[in-house]
Amino acid sequence: MRAEDKRGGAPPGEPLAGAPRSVRSEGSAPPHGAATAIKALYREVAACTRCPTICGYRKFPWEAVGRPDTGLVLVGEAPGIASIRNARHWTGRAGMVLRGEIRRLGLDLEDLFFLTNAVKCWPEAPGAREANRAPRASEIANCARFLETELRLLDPKIVVAVGAVAARAVLGRQVSFPRDHARSFRQGGRTVIVLLHPSNANRFMGWAAYRASLLRIFRRLARHRPAPLPEVEVAAALIARNGRYLITRRRGGQHLPGYWEFPGGKRRPGESLEACLRRELREELAIEVEVGEEVLAVAHPYPERRVRLHFFRCRLASSRVRPQEGQRYRWVRPGELATLPFPPADATLIRALAASG
Ligand code: SF4
Repeated sequence: MRAEDKRGGAPPGEPLAGAPRSVRSEGSAPPHGAATAIKALYREVAACTRCPTICGYRKFPWEAVGRPDTGLVLVGEAPGIASIRNARHWTGRAGMVLRGEIRRLGLDLEDLFFLTNAVKCWPEAPGAREANRAPRASEIANCARFLETELRLLDPKIVVAVGAVAARAVLGRQVSFPRDHARSFRQGGRTVIVLLHPSNANRFMGWAAYRASLLRIFRRLARHRPAPLPEVEVAAALIARNGRYLITRRRGGQHLPGYWEFPGGKRRPGESLEACLRRELREELAIEVEVGEEVLAVAHPYPERRVRLHFFRCRLASSRVRPQEGQRYRWVRPGELATLPFPPADATLIRALAASG
């Protein structure tokens, strides 16, 4: 089990010229009930089939949205396939440029922003190979109600719109890059900062100038970071047999239902990670393991908590796996892992295993 189962422009000028010096008070919550209402909205998004060519699959789950309580929303144009595979916004080649600069401040995008897109589903380019395409005007129009609802519920003081599509979706008007890069607009009581999309940055500005501008903006916004999220520690087991890894599927009613995961669970107070792992595997799968080396530790901010996840190699000392809570399990090859839905926190490990397998 994992952690909790059990949007009239201002003249071009200095970046952030119109930005308020305070966003929300430290650690304050979004408007009453907003997180719950947005969770419900994401269930609607998940079921939405309004755009015939892209509907019904490959959307980000609620768990990938970052923090709803910071008063800061970052809007992209649409998910890219790399980020969808990672179940994590902005993890394709272009997105990692944003992540690289915010990490210089010791933060992830999810620590500072609520992350969303103008179009919620992945726009797939026609052809045999999986590739991204720009969202169509009809798709942007169809999806506008979701973005409007998110912004109404969250009522952010600052919205950062990355790329021309996102800027238009938020502002309802065209902006022109690179002229408008890092320009701030006042709209409906909030500040909207528009950024050149990283995929065009080198061509229009050069990497050095673009990265420096991102860092300036993130640094100012980071002053308003709310209190850290509560953190839970989770131990998970990498159990291999005949070149396959043991994975289990999360049940309905749990955090991240339907996702696959490496078995394990939340550490109790005073318990070592190794003891936690042995106990969880005994309770959930009725198996005994020898806990080996820790191969990876990652921290991932979910909307309500930060999960620190420790992966250990384990040797199976039992002959049979007997799920105690009716959960499904499978033994899968490393290459297959990337084709299954895993929680965002597992993305780094999945990439490493798939590359090695
Ligand atoms: S892009 Fe938006 S409106 Fe279109 S199917 Fe997906 S969720 Fe629905």
